[in-house]
Amino acid sequence: METLQKIIQSEGKVVNEGVLKVDAFLNHGIDPKLMDQIGREFTSRMKGEQITKVVTVEASGIAPAVMAGLHLGVPVVFARKGTSTIHAEHLWKATAFSFTKEAYSELSISKELLNDDDRVLFIDDFLANGGAAKAILSIMRQSGATLIAYGAVIEKGFQGGGDWLRGMGVRVESLVRISGLQNGTIQFDEERGA
Ligand code: 5GP
Repeated sequence: METLQKIIQSEGKVVNEGVLKVDAFLNHGIDPKLMDQIGREFTSRMKGEQITKVVTVEASGIAPAVMAGLHLGVPVVFARKGTSTIHAEHLWKATAFSFTKEAYSELSISKELLNDDDRVLFIDDFLANGGAAKAILSIMRQSGATLIAYGAVIEKGFQGGGDWLRGMGVRVESLVRISGLQNGTIQFDEERGA
């Protein structure tokens, strides 16, 4: 997605060889017009898939997921982070390791909001090592929902999460694919990014 790639190029800040900061438009500040374009792009890629729900993780996945839900005409559900003991029996739960936070967190989705009738487009801001992906796959299995595609606004291809998902037979839709963050610069994977 060319517009997104240009904004990443101009606004993205390389924190180190593994982490990119995109606080200007996605992770802190949010660019509504860009989110709208992102939602439209995911929608066009899901043509004919009869998606019933967009699922994401709080907080940074919510903006692109809501825009995709709007254009697909389906509800959006975000997995909550953190341990909840209230009504725990009513939740699908899985533990995710976050390498940016270097910590485990519990993801949960109410059983009332996701079930085996659902055909899901999952959307997250970043796909990196696949810690979130492993937890989401577990929640999908527990709920019986069908994961149609795993959508990433930005895939950092060099961290392996996307290739792990593809190896599991999951369709991965990345709007932009980054192949490296060496020497303070962002290298894009022109071949495999959209
Ligand atoms: P993974 O679980 O695939 O390793 O990483 C996915 C999650 O980690 C995303 O939901 C995102 O919040 C966070 N993340 C991974 N890499 C980056 C990064 O380079 N920059 C930022 N801001 N967040 C990241």
